[in-house]
Amino acid sequence: MESNKLLQTAVPLLLEWYRIYKRDLPWRQNKDPYRIWISEIMLQQTRVEAVKEYYRRFLEQFPTVFALANADEEEVLKAWEGLGYYSRARNLHKSAKQIANKGAFPRTWEEVRALPGIGDYTAGAICSIAYDMPYPAVDGNVMRVLTRLLADGRNVDEPSTRKALTQALKEVYPSDAGDFCQALMELGAIVCVPNGAPLCENCPWGEICLARKGENAEAFPVKKEKKERKKIDLSVFVMRCGQKYAIEKRAEKGLLSGLWQFPIGEGIPSGKILAKKRAKHIFTHVEWNMTGYLVEVEREDGAFRWVTAEELKEKYALPSAFRAFLPWVISP
Ligand code: SF4
Repeated sequence: MESNKLLQTAVPLLLEWYRIYKRDLPWRQNKDPYRIWISEIMLQQTRVEAVKEYYRRFLEQFPTVFALANADEEEVLKAWEGLGYYSRARNLHKSAKQIANKGAFPRTWEEVRALPGIGDYTAGAICSIAYDMPYPAVDGNVMRVLTRLLADGRNVDEPSTRKALTQALKEVYPSDAGDFCQALMELGAIVCVPNGAPLCENCPWGEICLARKGENAEAFPVKKEKKERKKIDLSVFVMRCGQKYAIEKRAEKGLLSGLWQFPIGEGIPSGKILAKKRAKHIFTHVEWNMTGYLVEVEREDGAFRWVTAEELKEKYALPSAFRAFLPWVISP
């Protein structure tokens, strides 16, 4: 069976399965584009289970795009604290301002795609889910599911592969685009899973999937070899002076840009070392091997901002990379 025919057969099977087995997730309660947008941005690099609570709190704090537009950036970053990839929060905030200026959430793919922080995938997801428009949302999960169904051995790291799969999907997109888009994601999340063996016996495509027929599902998707992460050794200084702790703002560009941190550097700090602890944090391309020191100092160094534990907790967004050292400041 050629690809297009196979996909045409696959669409109704998947929709039927989705309507029975879909998970009850908070962002599936209605088709409000603002809510769908927030969920899609949160879900970009974060697991569903981790997102749920953030999503609930974020919408409680910023129930509409206007509320988000009117918030301070620090408030938005604080609400994002721990989710990582903070440029997502900054772009949400920027976009919210643009949307609020125009008075309503954009209604076309082009306008949605033009918002800061929105790529083809997210624009496709928002337009499909909120407006039932036939714009496929193809990310790594969807590519995995499709390359297995079609036993497609093209390299998924090549933009041309994503383009070809997007086009192939577009040709078979059903009118209930929102359900179809979410059904593909759902299949990738709970059946045709990324790590470990796919659960083919529970799959609506079990009878038609070419990778399953060939008994080599795990050979797909085909990827380029990954580059090794760069390893960086650094020291983290949790400096205490009386009731206050030193923090500093990171540079406006690069990793964790513009966020607050405990001062970092190399070597051993001066002052009385009260505790020492090692921790590791893995980013997409870098790995930090940190040695943290809790240090008692006699004077507040003017190069830093000095804050109480309470202020740190309430006002400053501290990336999770530094979470290992937080118990020295805030009792858990
Ligand atoms: Fe994935 Fe198996 Fe379903 Fe094929 S049959 S799409 S490999 S879960």
